[in-house]
Amino acid sequence: MTDTMRLYAFNTGWFQCRPGYFIEGEEGDYLRGPVPSYLIDHPKGRALFDTGMGIRYRRTLADALPPNKFGLQWFEGQEIAARLRSIDVDPASIDWVINSHLHIDHCGGNASLPNATVIVQSRELAAAQATEEAGLYEAVDYATGQPIRAIDGELDLFGDGSVRIVPTYGHTPGHQSAIVTLPDGREVLLAADCCYTERNLDLMVLQRAVVDREAGMRTMEFLHRRRQAGAHILFGHDGRQWQGVEEGKPIG
Ligand SMILES: [Zn+2]
Repeated sequence: MTDTMRLYAFNTGWFQCRPGYFIEGEEGDYLRGPVPSYLIDHPKGRALFDTGMGIRYRRTLADALPPNKFGLQWFEGQEIAARLRSIDVDPASIDWVINSHLHIDHCGGNASLPNATVIVQSRELAAAQATEEAGLYEAVDYATGQPIRAIDGELDLFGDGSVRIVPTYGHTPGHQSAIVTLPDGREVLLAADCCYTERNLDLMVLQRAVVDREAGMRTMEFLHRRRQAGAHILFGHDGRQWQGVEEGKPIG
């Protein structure tokens, strides 16, 4: 436990795709984006925002994805449990997991956090459970036995305004983001996949992977307003932005 809240960022693996997957029509070499996870160490408890990928995406350098292939992968030591241990945080000490949504690259580490309660939008849980087709949602990742707190809309996690979960629908039916107010008053908005890259927001262009474009545009407008108001937004899979993120050190 800690006397002041601290926010840490980790990259738990890599997402490779063509630029056109982020912004329709853009061309060029394959891009490599991070698969972020964030630890919020708060005096009232520890929360993780997203948990990375499951064990089946682990690769070694010998069988790594070629750089010109679409896909996901992580290497030993990148998984969230190892990342937490690297800063002397026991994965069993995590009280809350906030899953932005239940796609495979956002809740695959839930299984390694045995004492956490999982917070997810109820409409996201329903969408995952209604999907039979493999590949995007997999029960092996999101149904790992911990208690689930299904919410509808906003939640002030610790009751002090420091961690506000906000609905950011569009990419999936029940996507959510978190607005973390640092002790110095600055806001960090953990966007996750409601907006893959900073460039999407700069151009106000939706990424390709959006199930509800109207809701997605409303979410982009919300992000735009938050940014105008001074929030620092950390995007879902932005390799360029991530170069400026220092992992495993308190942000701010
Ligand atoms: Zn997703």
